[in-house]
Amino acid sequence: MTQVSDTEPLGAPLRIAFDYTRSLGPSLSRFATALREHRVLGVRGSDGRVHTPPPEYDPVTAALLTDFVDVGPGGEVVTWSWQPKPLDGQPLTRPFAWALIRLDGADTPMLHAVDAPREAMRTGMRVRVRWSPEPTGGIRDIACFEPEESAGASPTPDPAEVTMITTPIELAYWHTASPEESRFLRGITEGRLLGQRCPVCGKVYIPPRGACPVDGVPTTDEVALPDRGTVTTFCVVNVPYLGQRLTPPYVAAYVLLDGADIAFQHLILECPADEVRMGMRVEAVWRPREEWGPTLENIDHFRPTGEPDAPYDVYAQHL
Ligand SMILES: [Zn+2]
Repeated sequence: MTQVSDTEPLGAPLRIAFDYTRSLGPSLSRFATALREHRVLGVRGSDGRVHTPPPEYDPVTAALLTDFVDVGPGGEVVTWSWQPKPLDGQPLTRPFAWALIRLDGADTPMLHAVDAPREAMRTGMRVRVRWSPEPTGGIRDIACFEPEESAGASPTPDPAEVTMITTPIELAYWHTASPEESRFLRGITEGRLLGQRCPVCGKVYIPPRGACPVDGVPTTDEVALPDRGTVTTFCVVNVPYLGQRLTPPYVAAYVLLDGADIAFQHLILECPADEVRMGMRVEAVWRPREEWGPTLENIDHFRPTGEPDAPYDVYAQHL
């Protein structure tokens, strides 16, 4: 059995993801629409060079570019590097090459994947587009490139105008809490709210930062705080968004716990949104104990206590 020290920092996987949807504009719409037709477009610039993918504006004069021309689908590898272990979301699931490919009729190379054995990869090799079997409405209509001599039959195109693109963005990493945050998180796992006091100015920070931002000294003096406090500032959330757990309107507020010198954000529920105000006294509503973990979400929300509002002077220095 592994003994985990109670001072060892806590860590957990964190995944941030959202689908980024945007319009393509006139040039890239033409490029993407052509890809759906299994054609690759370039655009000719003022110096006669053909660029692909087509930029909207001339790299030399910055004038709008409109002289579109067909390029490819064959081309030549200008340079390449090997991807020995493909990552999720990359064009191929087996090892492949990233290559700059100058398509026939183009002057500037484009980046894409080449599906070829490593020993077959070389600068100057001839490749051609392998079209995706399913239309995607973007650069992924080119599944990858493949050596020209081994190119297979193309799937049937499924043309449609492409004006929008959705790009999934994802970042998955391991988040490690600082030693001070870890103590805070271990405390809240037991229903305790632990802050730390600055030995110089006496301010109490919760969650603790490990050092006082004013004095620059470590905060080592631990302080247990009550689970009630005062609303300092707040906003009424009226805008719906993807993944929202509550139905607007509701209130996100800064709550200054009694004895703390810094407020943290939480929800104020169990009263109409338009009754929440600066100085309102609130208390934590904890989730059932069996649901507790190392997270501030152990507190489901705060609710009004019914006490008289705190005078402005009490929280004026904490806004
Ligand atoms: Zn200080």
